[in-house]
Amino acid sequence: MPPAVRQRVAVPTPDSGLTPVTALAGVGPALAQALARLGLERVQDLWFHLPLRYEDRTRITPIRELRIGESAQVEGVVEAVERGFRYRPQLRVAVGDDSRATLTLRFFHFNRAQAEQFVPGARFVCYGEVRHGAHGPEMVHPEYRRVLGETRVATEDRLTPIYPTTEGLGQKRLAGVIARSLDRLPDDAALELIPDALRAPLRFASLRDALLTVHRPPADADVTGLAAGRHPAQQRLAFEELLTHHLSLKRLRAQMRRHAAPVLAGDGHLRAALRAGLPYALTSAQRRVGAEVESDLAQPVPMLRLVQGDVGSGKTVVAALAALAAAEAGTQTALVAPTELLAEQHWNNFRAWLQPLGIEPVWLAGKMLGRAREAALAAVAAGAPIVIGTHALMQESVVFRRLGLAIIDEQHRFGVHQRLSLRDKGRSGDVVPHQLVLTATPIPRTLAMTAYADLDVSVIDELPPGRTPVQTVAISNARRGEVIERIRAACAEGRQAYWVCTLIEESEQLEAQAAEVAFAELAAALPELRIGLVHGRLKPKEKQAAMDAFKAGQTHVLVATTVIEVGVDVPNASLMVIENAERLGLAQLHQLRGRVGRGSTASSCVLLYQTPLSRMARARLEVMRETSDGFRIAEKDLELRGPGELLGTRQTGQLEFRVADLARDAHLLPSVHRVGEALLRDHPNLAERLIARWVGGAARYAGA
Ligand code: ADP
Ligand code: MG
Repeated sequence: MPPAVRQRVAVPTPDSGLTPVTALAGVGPALAQALARLGLERVQDLWFHLPLRYEDRTRITPIRELRIGESAQVEGVVEAVERGFRYRPQLRVAVGDDSRATLTLRFFHFNRAQAEQFVPGARFVCYGEVRHGAHGPEMVHPEYRRVLGETRVATEDRLTPIYPTTEGLGQKRLAGVIARSLDRLPDDAALELIPDALRAPLRFASLRDALLTVHRPPADADVTGLAAGRHPAQQRLAFEELLTHHLSLKRLRAQMRRHAAPVLAGDGHLRAALRAGLPYALTSAQRRVGAEVESDLAQPVPMLRLVQGDVGSGKTVVAALAALAAAEAGTQTALVAPTELLAEQHWNNFRAWLQPLGIEPVWLAGKMLGRAREAALAAVAAGAPIVIGTHALMQESVVFRRLGLAIIDEQHRFGVHQRLSLRDKGRSGDVVPHQLVLTATPIPRTLAMTAYADLDVSVIDELPPGRTPVQTVAISNARRGEVIERIRAACAEGRQAYWVCTLIEESEQLEAQAAEVAFAELAAALPELRIGLVHGRLKPKEKQAAMDAFKAGQTHVLVATTVIEVGVDVPNASLMVIENAERLGLAQLHQLRGRVGRGSTASSCVLLYQTPLSRMARARLEVMRETSDGFRIAEKDLELRGPGELLGTRQTGQLEFRVADLARDAHLLPSVHRVGEALLRDHPNLAERLIARWVGGAARYAGA
């Protein structure tokens, strides 16, 4: 018997979704490659590649009814044509219709054949965005086609989806492939992964209906709802995506918790000694969070805890106490900070606290070379109780003797992957270190439950006593001179000031240059004051010297780049000027402002801005003037910018959703959490399939 002959069937068979895109008619290697660039490898990836927006070609809009800013389809007859060459070649075509109004089509690029099509009397259908022109409405480079004869043009019966695409892959081609993939959508029963009993109370459409609606909205669909992502079909998909995200973090957590961890329950002598040496008493919030951490550390399963606390709430000492608990139990702690400056500051703090207890913290930074590096590595390998540094600590060459606790400061700059790589350093057999993550980015609760579903969250919700609120003003750069006078006056009273330079470009070099310029300007304007300078381009020694001089009060003003954003602590500094404040996000402004208001004198913050201000920038500056409550600011930030920015995870891609938008869809989260728990409990296999569907190839934490 010959092997069965495979035939191509004309009617598409329902697809499991897992077949490669090359199974679709017309998808050859080149197209498959272009699709792969968009992350579209399996048929179901196409199902979930959703339109960015829609164009409405379901109707013809009378020219008289066109509205500026909207896109529309128009049918009309050429009334006049004008070719101009004033600054560059230009073709203007006046088109009129039965509404007895005229629309101008304007082209800057065109060839002769195109230009010659437009002859008075010819009939065209055009689609484009309506702009305000010199002689009424205008479309620049509209799509157009000529209509021959008197036949009425056929309009489309659905809204036209516009998909995110990539170079070399046109909209039409992509839409065609997606349409073919949709023809293979299986029926509800086969496609749906959320059991009816869980879905019914939410009144969501089936997944199949939702997908078909989103890809092929009927002509009478709620266009405004679709554009805003609030259409029920989109909400249905957003729900499933958020659910999947939640499930994958929960799974990650469950996998981590399956490992064992060393029980870190020492006799408390080091912790007691540190507390006794502090010049202040811990706040009750610090004590509460500290106790939560200690009780986790005493368990034989790895702690996965996030400590949230506003800037200046005193997270560092809580971390130090945890490190000492680890040391008492004979294990090591690694403390990782996102910038060298912050790591250095931790190192200084820890040295001051721990040297009296006979512990010498080890410093390990990326720029360290030669003997110093070897000595540090040897100390780590020999079991030094506390190692502090930047992500250099996560490099392969760093080997710990017995890592019991990994502390990561300012987690929003690191991704889950980096946390895993540090954890793996301490892995021995099935035993992994405990993890403590510190963040000063306050996150609204619902968002935290989603973004950090893999972590337990503790909140230090109280500032140490005696802080005075920071007075914040926004001042236009045109009044820069007044601000400089303000610095003169403040420093004459024995206060100190920060002058922070910021740039849009993520270029350390440009930012450093801006700081050099400001430094020269201030030095010239304020000859009686001593001015310091710190930026990312300086050598670590120079940075440290500038910081030390400022801390010791030897310099009055510190000109700095945003390198001081996180963690720098000089209580006598009570004035902060932030240049180009309009360019910074709320989280960053809040962090920067947190550098002042740490001592007992009244502090102020000047937000220097360049005009004109965008609406968004104005809103941000207003929020900063109104409140200093980090949680309020975070909520505003979420409203204004969305969660990706808020969490700083754009780089890590951790929270990039295809449909969901946490700010818009936050109302879905309580049901997401409820359905998520039920799925994990009763249908773990469905949870797995959901993750495979939405996260797919990106489900790379699988082995965690
Ligand atoms: P953050 O939470 O922003 O990391 P830090 O740990 O740097 O805050 O603490 C900010 C400042 O508050 C430091 O100067 C620290 O010494 C001081 N501090 C911390 N805890 C207390 C407390 N309980 N009472 C008074 N000052 C405190
Ligand atoms: Mg800190």
